[in-house]
Amino acid sequence: MNKPIQGFYGEFGGAFIPEMLYPNVEELEARYESIIQEKSFQDEYQRLLRDYVGRPTPLYFSEKLSAKHKAKIYLKREDLNHTGAHKINNALGQVLLAERLGKKRIIAETGAGQHGVATATACALRGLECIVYMGSVDVARQAPNVQRMKMLGATVVPVESGSKTLKDATNEAIRDWINNPVDTHYVIGSVVGPHPFPDMVAMFQSVISEEIRHQLQAKEGKELPDYVIACVGGGSNAAGAFYHFINEPSVKIIGVEAAGLGVHSGKTAASLAKGTQGIIHGFMTKLMQTSDGQIVEPHSISAGLDYPGIGPLHAHLFTSGRGVFLSVTDDEAVRAGFELTKSEGILPALESAHTLAVLSQLAFSPTDIVVINLSGRGDKDLTTYLQYFE
Ligand SMILES: *Cc1c(COP(=O)(O)O)cnc(C)c1O
Repeated sequence: MNKPIQGFYGEFGGAFIPEMLYPNVEELEARYESIIQEKSFQDEYQRLLRDYVGRPTPLYFSEKLSAKHKAKIYLKREDLNHTGAHKINNALGQVLLAERLGKKRIIAETGAGQHGVATATACALRGLECIVYMGSVDVARQAPNVQRMKMLGATVVPVESGSKTLKDATNEAIRDWINNPVDTHYVIGSVVGPHPFPDMVAMFQSVISEEIRHQLQAKEGKELPDYVIACVGGGSNAAGAFYHFINEPSVKIIGVEAAGLGVHSGKTAASLAKGTQGIIHGFMTKLMQTSDGQIVEPHSISAGLDYPGIGPLHAHLFTSGRGVFLSVTDDEAVRAGFELTKSEGILPALESAHTLAVLSQLAFSPTDIVVINLSGRGDKDLTTYLQYFE
């Protein structure tokens, strides 16, 4: 169930791409799995995950959340990774893969700048040229991350087309890749895009659930939790947290979408709750669109969840019933973020705060083991948190 069949998860996924993109995508498709499985690749990737990224990340038992929600609640601390979130697991993996494909030039798209920073970091480490496309609206509102990318040696290209945000930056990155098929690799930042990206990114993020299994064995004497819960923008941290549990029917899988101002408010990013089937950025999924197929601008207080579609794996988990997808509003997320900060001294990213907020929607039994994937730290969101209730 984790692996797509010919690029499809049920009816979702595939590679709906312009013919000019075939050579790039085919080269990647033909080689990604064998390269990732090579011993020399794994040795180097695992060494860097350990010594550079700081893995394994801790699995922390939260006494306060456990007492409040009457279950055994663990936080998987992806916020403690280098650069502050899970995104580096994927960016580093893809940059090592690009080297083995003989690519000298790396391109990426970014919305809030988190994926851009992770990619620029991996490129600095490996000495590769890095170009990051970013909507000009985002360049203006995410200045600290733009500065970080520049200091890391990346070129940030502001995109002026469309709504000047993430989806426009993605279109521009695809255009660049078409024009530079030989020497360039496109590092996509989530489990989205044409096959093989959703599968490849899920493979790189699957280290999260692999570690959870070992850590639960050591702490609880069994590898399987009763619940694993993660927020879903494109769906990469969730794919990594779910990966090694999807074929374990006793594990309940819960994804959390951003409801924004409310699922029915017209200002939301809940692509499964509100979306219909269609194609975006080269893959079939559920997305927010008008009846004539124009993308509806999503809204979420958290930039990382502000995407109009969702990865094909999650669309399939949703329609097949294997996963349950709930949604959390801006308001609920901000409150949950403050609560964790005050009670545990952990300041979560606004994305991760959505995951915490969903706990109040669930009824546990006292012996339930619940793993929350804390995808990132909230330093980047300080201003948003502090201004929210003013
Ligand atoms: C980017 C981001 C997300 C959302 O992306 P996914 O691909 O859905 O994981 C979630 N949390 C944090 C901290 C992020 O930076």
